Amino acid sequence: MTDQPSHLFYQSRNPRPFLDRGEGIYLFDQSGKRYIDGSSGAMVSNIGHSNPRVLAKMKAQMDKATFGYRLHFRTEASENLAAKTAQMMPEGLDRVFFVSGGSEAVESAVKLARQYKITQGEDSRWKVISRFPSYHGCTLGALDLTGYDPLTQPFAPMMRGMPKIPAPATYLDRDNLTEHERGLKYAEMLRDKIVAEGPDTVLAFIMEPVGGASTGALVAPDSYYGRIREICDEFGVLLIYDEVMTGVGRTGRFLAAEHWGIIPDIVAMSKGFGSGYAPLGATVAGSRIVEPILDAGGFQHGFTYAGNPMACSAGLAVLEEIESEGLVANAAAMGDVLIARMQGLMARYPFIGDVRGKGLLTAFEFVSDRDTMEPLPVGLNAFSQLVERAYERGLIIYSRRTRGGAAGDHFLLAPPLIITEAQI
Ligand code: PLP
Repeated sequence: MTDQPSHLFYQSRNPRPFLDRGEGIYLFDQSGKRYIDGSSGAMVSNIGHSNPRVLAKMKAQMDKATFGYRLHFRTEASENLAAKTAQMMPEGLDRVFFVSGGSEAVESAVKLARQYKITQGEDSRWKVISRFPSYHGCTLGALDLTGYDPLTQPFAPMMRGMPKIPAPATYLDRDNLTEHERGLKYAEMLRDKIVAEGPDTVLAFIMEPVGGASTGALVAPDSYYGRIREICDEFGVLLIYDEVMTGVGRTGRFLAAEHWGIIPDIVAMSKGFGSGYAPLGATVAGSRIVEPILDAGGFQHGFTYAGNPMACSAGLAVLEEIESEGLVANAAAMGDVLIARMQGLMARYPFIGDVRGKGLLTAFEFVSDRDTMEPLPVGLNAFSQLVERAYERGLIIYSRRTRGGAAGDHFLLAPPLIITEAQI
């Protein structure tokens, strides 16, 4: 296609070339240039592009029916995907509510939490504590949980202003604590916040188990995770894991929660769940939460496209692929290879301030001084030049200003889980 004036718009003008096709970890533009999809798009394409087995299963569903409204029909595709999801999730997370994306999954998790607490006679609970920085989506409800100033500030007057605690960015801390102590220190911030807000007003705490776009693959010290679970239990606060980016094998376990043996009350998933074959997401909880809501008349919430057979056939085919190809284990193994290579670069280049991540969700953070972790000067623009240079040379990486948007630069490396050592 030639460059004509575009009727289409997104967040900014788009000078990128037209996409032609995908194959495995690669994307090709219309000139035939090949790109390594080093970020799986936006951490979406977990099983890689144009997988013929997935396309065949989707085609089989499409030949039968692409849409049947869920209040008019049940479909085998949605029932089978829910069953497969429950089988792959940790014990007890076996009730699945379908949506079409991550923001929808997060909002559904919050509303599920709220309705559950109403059935328990705890109507006073409505506040959802989240972390800063964080990213939970761009619809107004999910945005209110998001800690990322450039995205939230224009809309601040339209939101409640949900309480936030600092994300455990311990790589920036220059104290005398051990990592274990630092993890506990950050977890106690949740306890303090719950007490300050009034425990009977706090509905839930939501966190990305491994940070995504806004914190750049931030992993907390191990001690953090268990202590957060304890604090939530102490105050009857529901623990929501936003696994929109981390779920479906990305970090080397099906859910990132499994690294620490944590069972959240509610999980939001999307991205790798449909792996880019269809817009798909899910909010998953246990019967303990879902049954009282259904008994009390039902979940007062739902999206038109939820559970549509086309998206669900894609999701089922994706999960079957993850299982049959051993992609969760491959993410763990290839993540170790990738992180080791990245650490090798860090040893050579002083402007790399941190290398972090889990499985195939990894990040570099660039700094002007590794000792103080002073970020690169904003005007320098070295970072966006690097991202552009990589793009020119056929490597796609995902970048954001981090530390809540005010300062700091990281980019995420998160290739499809099918990647081989040679390709890394
Ligand atoms: N939650 C997390 C952790 C995310 O990374 C994202 C997207 O990047 C979302 C929620 C929102 O997902 P979506 O853009 O599909 O609405």
